[in-house]
Amino acid sequence: MMKLSYEIISLRLKHTFRTARESSDSRQNVICRVQHQGIEGWGEAAPSAFYGQDARTVTRVLDSMAGKLGSDPFALEAISSEMAGHFPAEAAARAAVDMAMHDIVGKIVDLPLYRILGLDPGKTPQTSVTVGLDTIESMQAKARELGDVPMLKIKLGTHRDVEIVEAIRQVSQASIRVDANAAWTAKEALEKISAMREYNVELVEQPLAADDLEGLRWLKKRVDVPIILDESVRTAADIPSLVGCAHGINIKLMKCGGLREALRMICVARALDFTVMLGCMVETSLAITAAAHLSPLVDYTDLDGHLLIEKDPYSGVGVVDGRLILPERPGIGVVASSGMGAGV
Ligand code: MG
Repeated sequence: MMKLSYEIISLRLKHTFRTARESSDSRQNVICRVQHQGIEGWGEAAPSAFYGQDARTVTRVLDSMAGKLGSDPFALEAISSEMAGHFPAEAAARAAVDMAMHDIVGKIVDLPLYRILGLDPGKTPQTSVTVGLDTIESMQAKARELGDVPMLKIKLGTHRDVEIVEAIRQVSQASIRVDANAAWTAKEALEKISAMREYNVELVEQPLAADDLEGLRWLKKRVDVPIILDESVRTAADIPSLVGCAHGINIKLMKCGGLREALRMICVARALDFTVMLGCMVETSLAITAAAHLSPLVDYTDLDGHLLIEKDPYSGVGVVDGRLILPERPGIGVVASSGMGAGV
């Protein structure tokens, strides 16, 4: 029988992180460990209050799954559908177990996850780094501080959105992505996106409320900047109804429940001609690296959650010139950061 254990970890953020919806300077994530014949796989849950989750709801799921994992670590489909059936709303907890199982499988066959998936590590896209909402001066300072990062993702949803983008453009040559986190009305979105054109915005994430599909369809016909949906989509089943509403979707392990569902989402999105972004919550290098193994399959990556925390307890994926460098170690390929005492 495989054994499951877990630990709640507190993560302090480098800067208070603000979006149109929330503000926080710390997070509680849950690290999940699954053991099989002396091999240990690791996974991480970054619960989201937006989806009614916290560390307690995660550990409840993990307690319940502890005796149900069986003895076959390759039974990925059975384990993930069992979890999805019992805990539909607990995607972050499911993602942690799914990640740990993939990590074990990689360690058993002694191959990095991207190899098992048949992917080319040279095809990872450049990742953006997020600038949270703040005063215009602080956001500008943050963009300056990030120096030659090739892509910035700017959180918006204020009265001064266009001024913010203008101010960032003054100090940065980076490609600018903006994320309104559902804060705009359709008319407001059209005005703002049109006004931002001169600052060369690469894409706009979730301009309108998650369920305002009519507004999104109206907006998409009137703008030429790609619109990527995040809050509007959680799993593969959500994608078909979004045809005509946007150009692409943002997939996150913590929204969809793990690598397995993320792969299904990529297939469905491609079949419907959507572009694909791979995003994240505030996560350590453990969950970020797990997601990064899928990144050769996507158009955009926004995998910077680990860069927002003060002391990352793990190390795994690297970044060179903005491009993700996948680790060569078997499985997800992360190790505990030296001196952190985590992950053992
Ligand atoms: Mg977003």
